[in-house]
Amino acid sequence: MRLSRYFLPTLRENPAEAQIVSHRLMLRAGLVRQSAAGIYSWLPLGLKVLRNIERIVREEQNRAGAIELLMPTIQSADLWRESGRYDAYGKEMLRITDRHEREMLFGPTNEELITAIVRDSIKSYRDLPRNLYHIQWKFRDEVRPRFGVMRGREFLMKDAYSFDIDKAGARKAYEKMFVAYLRTYARLGLKAIPMAADTGPIGGDMSHEFIILAETGESAVFCHQDLVDYDILGQEIDFEGDLTPIIDRWTGLYAATDEKHDEARFASEVPAEKQIAARGIEVGHIFYFGTKYSKPMGAVVAGPNGEQVELEMGSYGIGVSRLIGAIIEASHDEGGIIWPESVAPFKVALINLKSGDATVDAACDKLYAQLEAAGIETLYDDTAERAGSKFATADLIGLPWQVHVGPRGLANGIVEVKNRKTGERREVAIDQVVAAFA
Ligand code: ATP
Ligand code: MG
Repeated sequence: MRLSRYFLPTLRENPAEAQIVSHRLMLRAGLVRQSAAGIYSWLPLGLKVLRNIERIVREEQNRAGAIELLMPTIQSADLWRESGRYDAYGKEMLRITDRHEREMLFGPTNEELITAIVRDSIKSYRDLPRNLYHIQWKFRDEVRPRFGVMRGREFLMKDAYSFDIDKAGARKAYEKMFVAYLRTYARLGLKAIPMAADTGPIGGDMSHEFIILAETGESAVFCHQDLVDYDILGQEIDFEGDLTPIIDRWTGLYAATDEKHDEARFASEVPAEKQIAARGIEVGHIFYFGTKYSKPMGAVVAGPNGEQVELEMGSYGIGVSRLIGAIIEASHDEGGIIWPESVAPFKVALINLKSGDATVDAACDKLYAQLEAAGIETLYDDTAERAGSKFATADLIGLPWQVHVGPRGLANGIVEVKNRKTGERREVAIDQVVAAFA
C-alpha cells in the first residue's frame, strides 16, 4: 500500500481524553476513532489488526474442534424471558422496540440464542458433543466505558458454547478450550495466565479467566512467577488425546484474581521471591455452567437408554477488540506501538528518504513492487514528508520492520533495515532485501 493513497490519519499530539497508553496510541496511530462513548469506528490500519487477531482466534478454535457459525446482533426479548435473564440482566442490556412494538435487544452475549438453536436441532446424544462459536459484535451498556476499546460498549467477542451429554464430556470440552486459549494468546505474542475465577452457584474448578499482566489492568491479580515463563507453543497437541497433563501443569501453581484470592494460601503455597501481586487485563473467560440454560429452556436430548437428558453446557469468551489494547499495553515504547509479527497490519514500512529524487523514487518503486510480488505486506511511505517525520510515523504505527532508502546508501547499492522492536539497524544490499524478509 502506498501511504500517499492510504487513509492513515495519525495525530502528533496526545489526545487529552486518553488515560492509558494503548488508548493514546490507538488514537495517535490512526487505528480507531470514537463515535460515541464506548463506540468506535475501526480505521483501515486498526481493522487490519482486528482481522489478524480474529484469524488467529478462528484458527485455534477450529484446531480444537469448535465449529463456526454466525448469530445476529439483535435478539428477541422472549428468548431471554425463557432463561429468566431478561429482567435480571439490568441496565447493561440495550433494549430496543421495533415498529410492531416487539421487544428486542442488542445481544450482550449468546447463551440463550445458541441454546435455542441446539435445542431445536439436536435430539440425540449421538449428535454430541458439539462446540459452536461465532465472532460477533456485542453491546453492553457499561456504566463507565473507558480505556478506549478495553472497556467499550460495543465490542467484538469470540464466544463459543459447548454441548455435552454428561459432566465428563463437558470437562473434556472445557479442557480443549483451555488449551486452545493458551495457544491463541501465545500466538498473539502475549503471556496470558489462566486464573481461577468465580463459578457462581455451580461451584467446582471449571472457571478460568485469562489474564495479561499490565499496570493499567482493572483487576488485582496474584500468581506464581513460573506461570509467566511457561511455554505452550513448543509442543504438539492432540486435542482428541489426554489434555490433563497440560491442564495440571498450568493450574498446579497458584493464580487467582482478587475475587478468588486467598492470602493465606498464596503466602503458604508460593515462596516469597516467586510471589507476583500485580494488575491484570482479562482477555478471556471460560466457564462451565452445567444445565443453567438447558434446564429452563428445555434443551434435552435422548440419552443412550432413551431417557431425556438436559444438556451440559459451557461458554468460552475471548475479547477480540480488547486484545488490541492489551497487546499495545504489553508491547510499546516511547516511540509508539511495537506489533508482534503475527498481528502486524503490514510487515514492512518502506521509507523513501528523499521523495522527488528520481533515483531514490525509482529504487523505492522497484523494491515496493518486488516486496508485494513476494507476498510481503508493505506500507510504502512515498509521501513528500521529511525523513524525520516519516521515521516518527513508522515508529508510531509499529510495523515490525523498516527499510530506509536514501541517496547515500543507494550510491553503494545499500539500504538500511531496522528492526522496530530491538532498534537494531543493519545495511543490506538492495537486491537482497526481499530475501531478507522471505
Ligand atoms: P469484565 O469483568 O471485564 O466486565 P466480563 O466478565 O463481563 O468481563 P465476559 O462476559 O466473560 O466478560 O466476556 C468475555 C470477554 O469479553 C472478556 O474476557 C473480555 O475480554 C471481553 N469483554 C467483556 N466486556 C468487555 C467490554 N466492555 N469491552 C471490551 N471487551 C469486553
Ligand atoms: Mg462485564
